[in-house]
Amino acid sequence: MRIVMIGSGYVGLVSGACLADFGHHVTCVDKSEAKIEALKAGKSPIYEPGLEALVAANAAAGRLDFTLDLASAVAEADVVFIAVGTPSRRGDGHADLSYVYAAAREIAASVIGFTVIVTKSTVPVGTGDEVERIFREEFPDKDVAVVSNPEFLREGAAISDFKRPDRIVVGAEDPRAMDAMREVYRPLYLNEAPLFFCERRTSELIKYAANAFLAMKITFINEIADLCETIGADVQKVAKGIGMDKRIGDKFLHAGPGYGGSCFPKDTLALVKTAQDYDSPVRLIETTVAINDNRKRAMGRKVIAACDGSVRGKKIAILGLTFKPNTDDMRDAPSIAIIQALQDAGASVHAFDPEGMDAAKPMLGDVTYGKDPYEIADGADAVVLVTEWDAFRALDFRKLKATMAGDVVVDLRNVYNAAELAKNGFRYTAIGKAQKG
Ligand code: NAD
Repeated sequence: MRIVMIGSGYVGLVSGACLADFGHHVTCVDKSEAKIEALKAGKSPIYEPGLEALVAANAAAGRLDFTLDLASAVAEADVVFIAVGTPSRRGDGHADLSYVYAAAREIAASVIGFTVIVTKSTVPVGTGDEVERIFREEFPDKDVAVVSNPEFLREGAAISDFKRPDRIVVGAEDPRAMDAMREVYRPLYLNEAPLFFCERRTSELIKYAANAFLAMKITFINEIADLCETIGADVQKVAKGIGMDKRIGDKFLHAGPGYGGSCFPKDTLALVKTAQDYDSPVRLIETTVAINDNRKRAMGRKVIAACDGSVRGKKIAILGLTFKPNTDDMRDAPSIAIIQALQDAGASVHAFDPEGMDAAKPMLGDVTYGKDPYEIADGADAVVLVTEWDAFRALDFRKLKATMAGDVVVDLRNVYNAAELAKNGFRYTAIGKAQKG
């Protein structure tokens, strides 16, 4: 089966490499010359554990190639996936579908014979209908079926998520397209990953509803964390206590600085906007978005409070910049708002991230970068853990204390042990714990 992936970013490249690993022939297309050149040279343009090796192995086996030439790739394809970005549209928060429609037009001009067009990008309900209209009106002779197949992988665990998904959702009604999708995912289906077929519009909504629910769960525990701080309870124990209830589940109950990343912020907002357009508002999600937006800057205030109410002229060392560990993705990372809040209050910010500093540099002004946690902590008044990379979990606190000028550690991910920090002479602030004194 010949598969073409339009867009070779986090989703397109991971999906393409995994489908090639299943034995399909996959061509990954991108508009970015730099990305395609890097891929042809055996380099992954993004950091995702295991991806570079998977790409290299499948390229060497002749099952995976890369091109800028969409037209030639598509002409040979049985199935074409659209995996381009759908960022928030500047100004109104709707999903910006211009990349999806531009890709659809380019594909439409080049397909030959029956071809299944699959939207893997996260797109609002009705986008598949519009893609189909583009084909029908502009190229009425082309024989295509337009399918929705949202992607649920998580950055940082993308390969295992793609290869061992909880489910594969396919919005398709054309029996030829359903057969093609069964064939695409046959190795997973044999592995008993449920292939869930539904109408295209339903499939499109499933993706947004899933992300909105998870964002809401995170926001719920974050609010409970604030309450814990005020009334003297421990949010980690609350999360454990409710998470043992199977109806609730223990995932996505880690209190922290608010959700970020390339999906939840834009997808919750896009769902809010779609629902408003249909005059069927999703108020829980509207509130979730508002709470989360406030929370990131509030984390800056939390650091300021831990520094006795002022960071003016103080040096603050930030551990971790990416929106979560094991990715270099900085899109909507909480670190951006937190650092801005600290700088606005007069702090000098120093930062280290194992993989995210190249992506962070164009997004953050006036930050001094170091090569490890101890270098940025040198002379610092406070250390703030923002992203819980493994490399930060087992710090040498005695060494850290000796290098710092101050004694404040703010742990926005609840990974450190309060007693150990106290033993080493730190004043320690975590999330959702009773405030001492
Ligand atoms: P990305 O920005 O990393 O990659 C998109 C790529 O598409 C870019 O490399 C861009 O150059 C390329 N592109 C744009 N227009 C093109 C065209 N006409 N022809 C060829 N290439 C083109 O985006 P991403 O993070 O991979 O997200 C892609 C989609 O998948 C989005 O809708 C996103 O919401 C969704 N999604 C992302 C994740 C994630 O974790 N990143 C998870 C699930 C779903």
